Amino acid sequence: MANKIKVKTTLVEMDGDEMTRIMWQMVKDKLLFPYLNMDIDYYDLHVKHRDDTDDRVTTDAARAIMKYGVGIKCATITPNEDRVKEYGLKKAWKSPNGTIRSLLDGTVFRKPILVNNIAPAVSSWKKPITIGRHAYGDVYDNFEMQIPQAGKLEVVFTPQDGGKPQTTLVKDFPSAGIVQINHNLEQSILSFAKACFTYALAEKIDLWFSTKDTISKIYDAGFREIFNREFERNWKEKFKKAGIEYFFTLIDDAVARIMKSEGGLLWALKNYDGDVMSDMIASASGSLAMMTSVLVSPNGWFEYEAAHGTVQKHYYKHLKGEETSSNSMALIFAWTGGLRKRGELDLTPEVVNFANKLEKTALETIEGGIMTGDLLLLAEKKPFNRKVNTEGFIDAIAQTLKKKL
Ligand code: NAP
Ligand code: MG
Repeated sequence: MANKIKVKTTLVEMDGDEMTRIMWQMVKDKLLFPYLNMDIDYYDLHVKHRDDTDDRVTTDAARAIMKYGVGIKCATITPNEDRVKEYGLKKAWKSPNGTIRSLLDGTVFRKPILVNNIAPAVSSWKKPITIGRHAYGDVYDNFEMQIPQAGKLEVVFTPQDGGKPQTTLVKDFPSAGIVQINHNLEQSILSFAKACFTYALAEKIDLWFSTKDTISKIYDAGFREIFNREFERNWKEKFKKAGIEYFFTLIDDAVARIMKSEGGLLWALKNYDGDVMSDMIASASGSLAMMTSVLVSPNGWFEYEAAHGTVQKHYYKHLKGEETSSNSMALIFAWTGGLRKRGELDLTPEVVNFANKLEKTALETIEGGIMTGDLLLLAEKKPFNRKVNTEGFIDAIAQTLKKKL
């Protein structure tokens, strides 16, 4: 192509680890750089480089996303003791995703990539169901205690301003038991609500929110009230204009309805509900390699990535010189998601078009029967289905893309 498409504003790129690092480079070399003229602010989040910089590179990357607005991230190792030994690290650094999320204060949205030759396990689902999971509080940051015998459990709230402490009876235990106390913060719930409204409007899809507010009249009902207030105040008109709806319903009802829905909606869920339901949606929609993930911050910053990890097992095969058939779809869609958002923010439709074309080409490649091993097992059996290796899949997309552009 003679004239490359210019991406107006700098993109923040975060490189990663293992098999995804290898696919990342191929995607850039074969699908992006030949067609795009982009300024990249590059951060190498390879575990060894995080270690060398005492993890400063991760916070630098998050700051760059705050500066430019859109970042695209490859999968990264979250080190545990094994990884500390494997790479000779100074320590088991925190999860980069956790670090970035806490700096951007975001909500993570996960959306499956659907192709017409892999049927979702739920036959009514025609369009993707995106999960928006609140990533703060509940059982992930709770208080638990073993109650050894009969007795009273009380909680005391001591106001910081010196007010009188308040004691409340939790339970008069007739015998031994267990207890769990959850908390949340209004500010965090409000950020979550803003991120969900922002995402639904950007994608022009309905937003469903569900909690158990009939039983939990302060905690779950509190989530509902914060969402309602925020909707009435800042989103009602915008939603109406976009022709989309905000719909709150009891979680039981939402679960029943989701099974009969066509999809094409955002389902916002509290932390635990989102944890569980996102695995259900992922598995029912096909494979982890077909799930995208974006972090939307209430400040209007976006970070795109694949939902899967570094595909460690495939990487070890690759290191031994064995052939791999790893699926790069979610990585490609991380780039197209970031590019499309960049194009929308910059008002450069040619960049949006490129992202759309690349996605379409990737989908058509799979629908045309060329796919990696993980999908071959799931796809409708067709005589022309062909399993390709990691690079072969990207090459097949590149060939068609070249003809289209
Ligand atoms: P994983 O990388 O998601 O892989 C788990 C398994 O899922 C793979 O062994 C493979 O199954 C299948 N799979 C996942 N992605 C695939 C793809 N693109 N193509 C084909 N198959 C794919 O999870 P993990 O092995 O538990 O974790 C590896 C590393 O990733 C860990 O160090 C973890 O810390 C990190 N991680 C990072 C992120 C992130 O950066 N967002 C998220 C999760 C995990 P088969 O082996 O059966 O083919
Ligand atoms: Mg889970």
